[in-house]
Amino acid sequence: MDIAKQLVGIAIRNGASLAGIADMETIKNSPSHLIYTKLGRYEGKATVKSDHNLPDSQLFNWPDSAKSALVIGLSHPESHPELDWWWQGGTPGNRLLIDIMNRSQQQIENDLKINTVKIHYYVEQGGLFLKDAAVLSGLGCIGKNNMLVTPQYGPRVRLRALLLKAELEPTGPVNFDPCSGCKEYCRKICPEKAMAKKTPLFDCIDCSTDLPARDGKYNRENCNERMDKDILATTNSPSTKQNPVKFCRKCELICPVAKNSRKQ
Ligand code: SF4
Ligand code: SF4
Repeated sequence: MDIAKQLVGIAIRNGASLAGIADMETIKNSPSHLIYTKLGRYEGKATVKSDHNLPDSQLFNWPDSAKSALVIGLSHPESHPELDWWWQGGTPGNRLLIDIMNRSQQQIENDLKINTVKIHYYVEQGGLFLKDAAVLSGLGCIGKNNMLVTPQYGPRVRLRALLLKAELEPTGPVNFDPCSGCKEYCRKICPEKAMAKKTPLFDCIDCSTDLPARDGKYNRENCNERMDKDILATTNSPSTKQNPVKFCRKCELICPVAKNSRKQ
C-alpha cells in the first residue's frame, strides 16, 4: 500500500472522520496564505490576542524539511452539538481532534518512520490555514458559507493538521462543487448578513473563485458581532454554574449537503 494511504488509514483508525495529504509548497501558495500577507492582520474572535502573535517574519515559517501535511477532519453533526460548545478554553470536539492527532503522530513516527512537526492550531502561533490545506488534500471545497464543505458531512467538520518530513503524493484536490446551483440557504439565514455583499476589504486583491466565500462575500466582522452576542448570552445566563458558549452555526447547519446521510 502506498504511504499516503497508510497515513490516511492511521488517522481514520484513530477516530478521524476524514483524512488526506497535501503538498506544503502548494499550501504556501494557496489563497488564504497569499491573501493574508496582502491584507495584514485580520484577526477575529477565533484568533489569539496580538501580544501572543508571532512576528510577521515567523508567520508561515515552517521547516523546509516539512514537505507534506496530513489533514484530518472530525464530524460535528447537529445531533451532537456539545462537540462544538466552547468551555474551559476549548471545545470537546477539539480535544478529541488533539487526541486523534497525538496518537496518529506517534504511530506515523514509530511504524512508518516518518518524522513529523506538530503545529499550533492558530495561524498567529505557527499554524496553517486549515481550510486551504483540507481542500488541497481532497477533503472538499470552499463553500459560499466560507467553510470547508465535504461530500460526506457537508460543512459540519472541524480540522487539524500535522506536518510530515516526507514528499508524498497529495490526495486532492477533488472535483466537488455543491454550491453552484444551490439556493444559498447559508447566506440567507445569517442573522448578521455576513455574506450579503462583497466585503470592500477584498477589493484590493485579484479576485479568484477561491477568495473568502468564493466571491469575497464574507464579512468576518459581522460574524464576530454574533460571537460577541453569543458570549454575552452565556455570561448573562441566570445559572450559577459555568455554562458553555454555544456559538452560532446557522450557516453551517442549514447547508443541505450530506444532511440526510447516515454519516450525519
Ligand atoms: S447552503 Fe448551498 S451555497 Fe451554502 S455552503 Fe451549502 S451548498 Fe453551498
Ligand atoms: S456563524 Fe452565524 S453569524 Fe457567522 S456567518 Fe454563519 S450564520 Fe452568520
